[in-house]
Amino acid sequence: MSIIYDRVALIGLGLIAGSMAWAMKRNGVAGTISGFAQSQASRDVTRDLGFCDIVCDSALDAVKDADLIVLAVPVGAIGAVMKDIAKGLKPGATVIDVGSVKRDVFNAVMPHLPSDVHFVGTHPMAGTEHSGPKSGFAELFDNRWCLIVPDKADPQVVARVEEYWHALGSMTDQMDIDHHDRVCAVVSHIPHLIAYTMVGVADDLRKVTDSEVIKYSAAGFRDFTRIAASDPTMWRDVFMTNKDATLEILGRFTEELFALQRAIRKGDGDHLFDYFTRTRAVRRGIIEAGQDTDAPNFGRSKT
Ligand code: NAP
Repeated sequence: MSIIYDRVALIGLGLIAGSMAWAMKRNGVAGTISGFAQSQASRDVTRDLGFCDIVCDSALDAVKDADLIVLAVPVGAIGAVMKDIAKGLKPGATVIDVGSVKRDVFNAVMPHLPSDVHFVGTHPMAGTEHSGPKSGFAELFDNRWCLIVPDKADPQVVARVEEYWHALGSMTDQMDIDHHDRVCAVVSHIPHLIAYTMVGVADDLRKVTDSEVIKYSAAGFRDFTRIAASDPTMWRDVFMTNKDATLEILGRFTEELFALQRAIRKGDGDHLFDYFTRTRAVRRGIIEAGQDTDAPNFGRSKT
């Protein structure tokens, strides 16, 4: 594979940035990779692991001469990082983010973006419950979708960003900012909230059930606990910044839950059977689309 960007700077050195770096190295996508994380500990671990060619002690040093700058920090930190690096960006460079929310990210980035620098929103639909520099792995993006949110970006710049994601192993689709936030509320944000809630309920009941929840935890509950182990900072920021879409979808979810609750109380087995038949078909569709997280090649479960 050929080099897509000569110099790539990663700001944030966690699961997503680490996986990008390993995938870039595996596929020869970048000439040089520089990186920066806020803590000395993460920078030291990254130096030891060796997925960046240069680990810098400031974000400004990391972005120097970079052709592509990746903002791979929690969504709530993106605006401050963009403000910090703005004066060090090379004219003509491209900045992308990988945040799970887009309206808030555009609002935070655009006021600081120099007029001769491009910005494209991107969001890999791949992840795990792990975080930090040790959690990254080269296969994370293989055969996974990456949503591209160009907004008003130059189409040639966007095409190159898509080429970059393809080189990391992903498939890409373009989306409008608000549509992205709604879709992600349905497929990712609310499912996480439900998992956090279910595990919280089980924890509250732990005294009543005398730790049987843990001892006999069946696959369904174990899946919830895996999702509910996801990084608290990242997920706090997702709900703080995607308020409208998550509240809207949560409203719909609550309505459906009440309908199921009523069916159970009234003994309406037909309603439950029809509902579960419909949802089973959704699962089959996901498997047929090759997006089953447990399928071979993916190695680890995704969120
Ligand atoms: P992560 O593993 O927790 O890594 C976050 C990194 O950001 C850490 O290196 C952290 O540094 C650094 N950081 C935090 N605040 C910073 C700041 N103000 N300045 C510089 N560095 C800062 O998180 P991640 O899972 O890679 O997530 C990164 C982004 O990807 C988030 O926006 C998230 O929404 C998005 N995303 C995540 C997933 C997922 O499943 N995890 C999937 C798709 C997209 P320290 O280690 O020094 O604190």
